[in-house]
Amino acid sequence: MYLFQLDLNPIDTNFMPTLLVRHASVLVTMDDHRREIPDGGLFIRDGVVEQVSPTQELPLEADEVLDLDDHIVLPGLINTHHHFYQTLTRAVPEAQNANLFNWLKTLYPVWARLTPEDIRISTQTALIELAFSGCTTASDHLYLFPNGSRLDDEIYAAKEVGLRLHASRGSMSLGESQGGLPPDSVVEDEDLILKDSQRVIEKFHDPNPGSMTQVVLAPCSPFSVTASLMRQSADLARQYGVQLHTHLAETEDEEAFCIEKFGYRPVAYMQQLNWLGDDVWFAHSVHVNQDEIGDFARVGCGVAHCPNSNMRLASGIAPILDMINQGVKVGVGVDGSASNDSSHMIAEIRQAMMVARLRSGLRGASLSGEETPALMTARQALELGTRGGAAVLGREDIGSIEPGKCADFYAVNLNRLDYAGALHDPVAALVFCAPVKVDYTVVGGKFVVKEGQAVTLDLARLLEAHNQASKRLLDG
Ligand SMILES: [Zn+2]
Repeated sequence: MYLFQLDLNPIDTNFMPTLLVRHASVLVTMDDHRREIPDGGLFIRDGVVEQVSPTQELPLEADEVLDLDDHIVLPGLINTHHHFYQTLTRAVPEAQNANLFNWLKTLYPVWARLTPEDIRISTQTALIELAFSGCTTASDHLYLFPNGSRLDDEIYAAKEVGLRLHASRGSMSLGESQGGLPPDSVVEDEDLILKDSQRVIEKFHDPNPGSMTQVVLAPCSPFSVTASLMRQSADLARQYGVQLHTHLAETEDEEAFCIEKFGYRPVAYMQQLNWLGDDVWFAHSVHVNQDEIGDFARVGCGVAHCPNSNMRLASGIAPILDMINQGVKVGVGVDGSASNDSSHMIAEIRQAMMVARLRSGLRGASLSGEETPALMTARQALELGTRGGAAVLGREDIGSIEPGKCADFYAVNLNRLDYAGALHDPVAALVFCAPVKVDYTVVGGKFVVKEGQAVTLDLARLLEAHNQASKRLLDG
């Protein structure tokens, strides 16, 4: 039984045909000129941005008017990699101090107990947590479907929260008995995987501008699926024009596994499987060399950079500045909440900036006289979380605040302890200072967070259900 009413056609009391946002201390557009507008605002009609300008040039009236004095307004953040269900297994003692393979082997048996309701609850927890960090579009990689769980459970739960979702029909088919990493109890039959992939594409995938739900095919990783399933998934995705996603080059263990089992480094293995293309993005790509980065740039492969997870699991530091400099599409992802252990996009963007700097320092980068900054800037990091994420997810309708794009944005009150002494550059303050919870998150003109409160769900009730589900999973 679901704890929350499942209603596919809720009566929408939250929607205003026109919304006027005005008097923002600064409005960050992330448009082609990277305009930052003092005393800025925007006018929204039917969920789409109609005008972006200084407040004095905006219309005077709308169905709803939001005065954002002392706030910074930015384009909604785009999370390119997550495993929502892992919000139920954060900071599990046995998995706290492990590298990727040992962490996975500890957690697979716990995840094998997930139910459809667990998927539903964890989806809502992850999405509202993301919304409180300014996220308006999230990709999720769900790759195990135990006890009758389906991607449908996640998609319906997400509709109630109100964020845009790129839901991956993930998969695992290479169990322990076949030389894979996961236990046989969490892998699925390949024919069934492909049939269900086709079903969810036909049922849910909406490729149109303003889309709230897109479907992605996402076999989990080289060490948990067969080459045949990778190839067939790519064929099916291309038949329907949906994107492909998987974990790649995350750890040295994975690289060794690929060389030993397939005779290729991970990126070359993907090439063999017809998995290098502009419809593909990879999570992590920590262990890639300059030639492989060049391959990504040449074919248009995207990368979901997940610095907190890479640090948590001691995987390594991804060469993100090299990727940016070679023209690779790069977005930011929080990764699953069992290896982060949060879903905070601003924290992730901050960490992306920090770890890129650490890598530059370790490589002895010169800090003077270069055209490209040797240190990643706050604005570069924010760009990864907005325009970068949109490019990775293949979307032209999100990632910036400009006329014709979806009205997806967030606002943060600058008048707070965290930013004291940093108000000379609020944009940089957002990234350099401690990550905060945002005050407003708006998706397609609709409020998900308003005045610091969740609008679309009962947070206290959700947390109670979430913690009960988590306890049940861990108690076994
Ligand atoms: Zn992941």
